[in-house]
Amino acid sequence: MPPETPPPEIDCSGVSKRFDGGTEAVRDVDLTIAAGQTTALVGPSGCGKSTLLRMVAGLEDPSAGTIEIAGAPPSETLQQAGLSIAFQDPSLLPWRSVRGNIELALSLARRPVSDSEINQLIALVGLNGFADARPAELSGGMRQRAAIARALATQPGLLLLDEPFGAVDELTRRQLAQDLPRIWEARGTTTLLVTHSVSEAVALSDRVIVLTPRPARVAADIVIDLPRPRPEGIGRSDDALELVERVFAELTEAMAAEDTPLAAQ
Ligand code: ADP
Ligand code: MG
Repeated sequence: MPPETPPPEIDCSGVSKRFDGGTEAVRDVDLTIAAGQTTALVGPSGCGKSTLLRMVAGLEDPSAGTIEIAGAPPSETLQQAGLSIAFQDPSLLPWRSVRGNIELALSLARRPVSDSEINQLIALVGLNGFADARPAELSGGMRQRAAIARALATQPGLLLLDEPFGAVDELTRRQLAQDLPRIWEARGTTTLLVTHSVSEAVALSDRVIVLTPRPARVAADIVIDLPRPRPEGIGRSDDALELVERVFAELTEAMAAEDTPLAAQ
């Protein structure tokens, strides 16, 4: 199903973030993300990935530089329900069921609530039979999957995913890695994905941005020229494995340049 508005391009120009306490999380990031592409951000933990994503989501303001989504400030896109975000720590409303959480997202976005669409999304993330369960009745991985379904429900032009598979078991993770690209390919969604899994970044993305240790700067920008739609098992192909090695090499170099122990990842 095509989105109501075309997917947006994201343009970050000289974006920096220093928090009030003095922590500098992001420094001078220039990045243009083409409409309809999936881009992965990888980097050592604590380097500033989530901060960058939150700024793109309009949840945090840069302390320097500008971010534009289809030429508008992110807060505008957020207000118009043009973007969805799923965090590692899913912020589901505890008193609402999985279905209720998805329905709320739809009504906040002023989108019609279609039961069959909601059922499809719930099935897609493997939560069949749990539509009426409340978050407390679900495992951490199931809550994350519910948050992904909620993020997809409004059919946003821009989808921001912050380590959304962290607590998801491996089998489901593999299934999601197979199914999610189909959705954003079909809808032409612009997707920005933070992940600590390099192989996942390669399997899912058109482009992998390697960030330095904090403050995050762009260390490398790697085009993932694997075929679309991604055939099943592409992540285990020689081409994909070669790209995974390249990303690791860039990460290692970025970390060595900072003289930071590799164990920090
Ligand atoms: P990552 O997602 O790459 O693990 P984050 O973007 O969450 O990293 O954090 C980058 C740095 O910014 C960390 O040192 C973190 O403690 C700090 N930080 C994140 N959010 C805030 C905040 N709201 N106030 C102060 N410091 C923050
Ligand atoms: Mg993070």
